[in-house]
Amino acid sequence: MIYLLIFIVILFMYYSFRYAWWTKVVDLKNPRILMYHMVSSHKKNARFNGLRVQPEEFEKQIKYLKDNGWTFFTMSELIEKKDELPFKSISITFDDGYEDNFTNAYPILKKYDAKATIYVVVDRHDREWSSKRKKKNNDGELKFEPKLKDEQIKEMINSGLIEIGSHTMTHDNLLNLTKEQKINEIQNSKIEIENKFNITCKSFCYPFGLYDEKDVEIAKNSGYTNATTTTKGIDSLNENKKFELKRVTISGKDNFLSFKIKMKRGMRGLNK
Ligand SMILES: [Zn+2]
Repeated sequence: MIYLLIFIVILFMYYSFRYAWWTKVVDLKNPRILMYHMVSSHKKNARFNGLRVQPEEFEKQIKYLKDNGWTFFTMSELIEKKDELPFKSISITFDDGYEDNFTNAYPILKKYDAKATIYVVVDRHDREWSSKRKKKNNDGELKFEPKLKDEQIKEMINSGLIEIGSHTMTHDNLLNLTKEQKINEIQNSKIEIENKFNITCKSFCYPFGLYDEKDVEIAKNSGYTNATTTTKGIDSLNENKKFELKRVTISGKDNFLSFKIKMKRGMRGLNK
């Protein structure tokens, strides 16, 4: 009997720690901005499987959102309509520009008529950027992951479902750069994307979520309307937050309960 009691207490503590059930549901008038990277099967022994949401999981998540009354917006729409957004507004974002965003995610988004924003790195092919954050991440896993081709990007833009934002020229660590280099990464990437795809590039995303106040200034002065970070959580769209927006991180390692909890509170536990 006593063992059963101890077992129940331990189980309770484990679930409490893992899901932080007592934290508050964030007001449903604050939009959820979800951060994805890849939509693909996991690779054996890979370092970055957390960045890979399996296609079946992704479909389950999008279907759940659709069935539960969430309305999808691109990032720039979210900002433009911020005073008239319905309860349960959501923005799906993808970082980096992996090819599976087109081959795996886009068909699902089309099926459910769900809008999304993809932040592409202008110079994204065959680039080792994961070591810019941690030197030991130099095994080429993300370098060899296929990236979106321009033709695929054009097709998605033409669908009206997908907004293309900038994730800089080279996915460098902005904190290590001079002012001129920062301007090249933040402002020139916008111009490149606009010229190549004949669009206005309104949304920006800081690589690795690493940035300082100078980067925020440059993003504002470059003519973007908004910028996202990797800070976990759910924000209101106040004027002073538009260039440092928090996001809800969707991990390839989340189970469905975690996903649902994150939609309510922005995080699964206390810091994830
Ligand atoms: Zn990135």
